[in-house]
Amino acid sequence: MILAFKLSFQNTIYMTFKSLGLNESILKAIAKKGYTEPSPIQGKAIPEILNGHDVLASAQTGTGKTAGFTLPMLHILAKRTIDRKRKIRALILTPTRELAAQIYENVKEYSTHLDIRATVIFGGVNQNPQVRTLREGVDVLIATPGRLMDLKSQNEVSLRDVEFFVLDEADRMLDMGFINDIKKIVKVIPRERQTLLFSATFSKDIKKLANEFMQRPVFVEAAPENTAAETVTQIVHPVNRTDKANVIVKLIKDGDWSQVLVFTRTKHKANRISDKLKNSDISAAAIHGDKSQGARTKALAGFKNGSIRVLVATDIAARGLDIPLLPHVVNFELPNVPEDYVHRIGRTGRAGASGEAISIVSHDEEEYIRDIEKLLGFKIPKKSIPGFEQSPLAEVEKLEAELTKKNGGNNNRRKPNNRGGGGGGNFRKKSRR
Ligand code: AMP
Repeated sequence: MILAFKLSFQNTIYMTFKSLGLNESILKAIAKKGYTEPSPIQGKAIPEILNGHDVLASAQTGTGKTAGFTLPMLHILAKRTIDRKRKIRALILTPTRELAAQIYENVKEYSTHLDIRATVIFGGVNQNPQVRTLREGVDVLIATPGRLMDLKSQNEVSLRDVEFFVLDEADRMLDMGFINDIKKIVKVIPRERQTLLFSATFSKDIKKLANEFMQRPVFVEAAPENTAAETVTQIVHPVNRTDKANVIVKLIKDGDWSQVLVFTRTKHKANRISDKLKNSDISAAAIHGDKSQGARTKALAGFKNGSIRVLVATDIAARGLDIPLLPHVVNFELPNVPEDYVHRIGRTGRAGASGEAISIVSHDEEEYIRDIEKLLGFKIPKKSIPGFEQSPLAEVEKLEAELTKKNGGNNNRRKPNNRGGGGGGNFRKKSRR
């Protein structure tokens, strides 16, 4: 653990938050959080932001990126003469409600000793309390694009005084189709502003977005592009598709894992796995877009306080969840896009702690593993699980999957021995970003 911590933070070993020039009130709040030194992305991004530059940062969740943009932003907001006090001076856009809520919590903690008021708005809950808070005046607004556009169209939000515009998890925002909302928002905020864009991956689309919205941005990165955190141990368990659900129960029980995040590709599968675990006496909850905000918040809280051992999530729901020291992440099904694998395993080995990323992989997912390994630049070790070795029968599944792909997903032949235990085989690849 100590070694991992050193590995993760070695770039900045001699840097302190004080030497970055942050004000005393902020230093006090950081000390209360127990941070002793800046993480690499903080060490790189904070001086650039303090110098007034637009910053384009490549950093995944778990690198300390939130403090990386929040701390210097708060420092500057607190320093400037505040004749525009209680007008929205900083707008932070994030793709999901959970992430918005987490950033809000962080902003509140870091600004405890400052005269700065923040609030958060997102969909899925009654807008009235949000509107009331906005009417009272806030300096920092954290928002998901949908609710922001809603309230903007009702004239409940004015963005005329925005000095800081932060796009967090920009790649995910594009994936989720928020590009038009983002463009509309950029049109109504002042041109004279500082723009900060954080993204785990840098596709052509992200670079285009940066070109359009940013002024001579400085590029900073925490780790080489698209590399997984050094502190994560990765392993692939080859299994038959129909054994997957039993394998996950076995892994959790045998390993006595207490906190596991499991990824599925669909909401339906997340529900099914969560039910299967509960039926096997493992406390679990599913978290995805069809769950109410209340249910999602409750599941996340239960997972954090240890009353729920397993959180089964789709990629979108899990995006940016801040679960400190998460020891195990399981890919029940691999994602379509290899970059999403990197996002997923970014949930473990967070901020210096070590973790394990386990992928339960059936024959029909072998191509995905090859693509992931190409992206990572190394082969992930494979290990069979006694009693659940891939059987020759799986060869048939492999052929079926290939046939399905050739037929454009229209192969309706029943699979031999299909007991319905595993994942759906009709994977269709999204275009590469
Ligand atoms: P983030 O990447 O912003 O989601 O942060 C991941 C986790 O790292 C959060 O739990 C933060 O509270 C924590 N963190 C952020 N900065 C530091 C730091 N300099 N030292 C230790 N932990 C940190």
